[in-house]
Amino acid sequence: MNSPLPTTDLDERSVVQQAMLNAGADLAQDEDPLAILRRFCNTLVTASGHIRLVWMYVGEPEVPMLRPQYAAGPARAYADELAIGLSTPERASPARQALARHEMILKHLREDTGPASSLAAAREYGLESCLVIPFGRPGGIGRGIVSVYADLPDYFEQVGQDSFAAFGYLADAAMAQAALRQKLQRMATVDGLSGLLTRQAMQEILQRFVAQAQRQGTGFCLLLCDIDRFKIINDNYGHQAGDRAIAATAAALRGALRTEDWASRWGGEEFLCLLPGVACDGGKSLAERVRSAVAGQPVDLGDGRSVTVTVSIGVACLPIAGSTLQELLAHVDSALYDAKASGRNRVVRASTQGQSLYFMANEIDQAISEDRLRPAYQPIVRLADGEVVAEEALARMVQADGQLIEAGRFIAQASQLQLAHRVDHAIMRQAMDHCALRIFSGQPPLTRLVNISADLLRHPELVDDLIARAKTICSACGDRIGAQKPLVIEITERELLGDLQEAKRLLQPFLDFGIRLALDDFGSGYSSFHYLAELPFSFLKISGDLIAQVNVNPRGRRILRGIQDLARDMEVTTVAEGVEDAATADTLREIGIDWVQGWLYGRPRLLEAGTNAADTPAAAAS
Ligand code: GH3
Ligand code: MG
Ligand code: MG
Repeated sequence: MNSPLPTTDLDERSVVQQAMLNAGADLAQDEDPLAILRRFCNTLVTASGHIRLVWMYVGEPEVPMLRPQYAAGPARAYADELAIGLSTPERASPARQALARHEMILKHLREDTGPASSLAAAREYGLESCLVIPFGRPGGIGRGIVSVYADLPDYFEQVGQDSFAAFGYLADAAMAQAALRQKLQRMATVDGLSGLLTRQAMQEILQRFVAQAQRQGTGFCLLLCDIDRFKIINDNYGHQAGDRAIAATAAALRGALRTEDWASRWGGEEFLCLLPGVACDGGKSLAERVRSAVAGQPVDLGDGRSVTVTVSIGVACLPIAGSTLQELLAHVDSALYDAKASGRNRVVRASTQGQSLYFMANEIDQAISEDRLRPAYQPIVRLADGEVVAEEALARMVQADGQLIEAGRFIAQASQLQLAHRVDHAIMRQAMDHCALRIFSGQPPLTRLVNISADLLRHPELVDDLIARAKTICSACGDRIGAQKPLVIEITERELLGDLQEAKRLLQPFLDFGIRLALDDFGSGYSSFHYLAELPFSFLKISGDLIAQVNVNPRGRRILRGIQDLARDMEVTTVAEGVEDAATADTLREIGIDWVQGWLYGRPRLLEAGTNAADTPAAAAS
């Protein structure tokens, strides 16, 4: 009884597939899905002469009388007469079945057991088989069916049902989109100034995408963009100019994104964008595109003036960054914070907790307030006799679980975050207290080197506090210390870059009190002797990089000899850093280096418990 298709199966199949493909592409468009479904019905009957009728219904499955709402094809009149009630045979009809079970139903009309009248009518119109495709989620809105009728009994077997099934999925998605769009339209969806979605509308979209991600494992990326130093525009050019800058930035941002991306005005001059189906790498390059689009297009302020606006952008992805919406938003926020803290006009991807500046800022802040920033002391030895003559205080962060974080892992971040002065202050206070503790326990004073940043010098209130404390301690120690104070301040050339006279002025209070200076990290970067001439350094700390050269590079050795000669001439004590082996120490001794520091002599160590700053007599005296 198989009647062959007049064209080959393959031709007919590709005709149908093409029609489905076009309809699918249509559905993805930003249009009324009912209009698209109607167009789909038309497309299908035009595509193939075998498809005699396509009709559709959108609504509740349990309607008392189910009637086609739209029909197309030469057998359209059949649909006009169709009315399917709720009687038992009518419930068994393919349309009712597909709706109720949410399954695709295929019927051969000659064998159908449905109402006799409808069967006879079907045959009258030359309809032999029927495939009903359901769409929309049970319980959700936008449920419905599309019924396709062919003039051959085994048409759907021959053409295959896959394309029809795929269409069902696409219609599902289109209906869900339409429902969302309707909901958005009811709310205040569009921000008047920027033309982007409002925060409220964006929240709806976020919730939907997160739910979908959790259900289907699909990913997306968030970009949080914030205009840099926007206050300056407002303050210098007025609020109206500020508004123009917001509108122009929004336009540049929208232009740089893809059509399927969602962009919102999340706050005053902050924009949140959702990029569906994008992973972190893709998100980062789209963010770069946004960043350069904004920076590359000066904003016309309307009065002949224009201003360049830049944005900082945080990037975070689901499912990588976090799994709940709240976590994801916290991540993208911290990435934006990092972008701001690391200089602005840049894109930063959300990183794992420990590496983010945002978390680091909290961590450092807490460590300071909970007294978990401690100096670890590394011995410094006089080469001539091997005597420990000094020690350097190196900052360590003690974590809640007792683990130690080395300075290298948080000092650079602390200075980026403008927290360096607080770190310096905390370490120097404790170093002073430890110095007093030693003297009070009857030991001779030991030179104590403490690192400071230029940031500390810019906080005169902290400098005053440190000097006041030094005075209290020194007077408590009395003549156990001489005119020369045991404390030495180490500062690197990098910190002195800029206004040298200003640095001199800021350092003066320490010098006046008898605290000495060491030039740190000499030989690593700039190494200008200018600083040595301008500031009264007592110590020159030679970088470990240069020290590592002395036995491998004759030129390095000669440079070191030159430095040593110069230092001797200026009565500056040299301290070689990073000495790790005896052969290096021998060469340094031969050159005449005064003091050495490095693993060969001892690693940095925290003081034993019970010798805390708070336990010192000086702390009690202050
Ligand atoms: P940062 O680089 O750290 O982001 O600095 P900023 O000055 O851009 O950031 P901040 O958040 O301190 O300042 C944002 C300013 O934006 C404060 C607010 O008065 C202004 N603002 C918020 N909404 C509007 C608006 O609709 N129009 C105008 N003109 N200004 C706005
Ligand atoms: Mg802001
Ligand atoms: Mg801003």
